[in-house]
Amino acid sequence: MASPMSTAAFLAALKAEGVKVVERPGWKTHNRAGHGAWGPVNGVMMHHTGPYSTESAMVTLCWNGYSGLPGPLCHGVVDRAGTIHLIGYGRANHAGLGDDDVLNAVIDETKLPVDDDSNTDGNARFYGFEAINKGDGQAWPEAQIEAMVRVSAALCRAHGWSDESVIGHKEWQPGKPDPAGVDMTKFRARVAERLKHPASWKPTPSTPAPAKTVEQRLSDLEAAVKKLEAAK
Ligand SMILES: [Zn+2]
Repeated sequence: MASPMSTAAFLAALKAEGVKVVERPGWKTHNRAGHGAWGPVNGVMMHHTGPYSTESAMVTLCWNGYSGLPGPLCHGVVDRAGTIHLIGYGRANHAGLGDDDVLNAVIDETKLPVDDDSNTDGNARFYGFEAINKGDGQAWPEAQIEAMVRVSAALCRAHGWSDESVIGHKEWQPGKPDPAGVDMTKFRARVAERLKHPASWKPTPSTPAPAKTVEQRLSDLEAAVKKLEAAK
């Protein structure tokens, strides 16, 4: 359990973790104050936006919200190039009602139970990030996933939380699919790995297979020619 960070500390934590941010003017005071609590905070929640026309239109939609669900719809929108657009701070309409057993597991940083209740206000308890993805099987660019990992690690590091304080909306509220296509267990493992290193850590991309030698290429070619000859 923790008090939410100040906007200055939040911004500093993101930047220290190497997160590329765009500050939409007014984000620091754009929130749903007066419509419920903000804090104590216990974790970080990841989402996908769903269908969009353009990425900038989606950032604007997350700022404004829509009839029945006023914005901000999260604290930051993670675009497909891995930049995070800061659009709100304080209470935001992203998590909705979720499972108290899940919240308790997040607080205890233990294995998550199945989310089968909608009895707890998540907007008070979680930092929230909407990643731009159609949610229809659309691929996730590595730069975008890396930004999601980094922002999660930044907030966990600042609060002294482990990776088990990071969940997907689909693990919070029954019926929610987001972030679709993101294996949250693997995602948390990446956050855990980051937390073993300083905030400035730049992971080296996985080593590509060693290049073939000229001799290997020649023998591959010869084998292919033989195959062709045999097929004649
Ligand atoms: Zn969501």
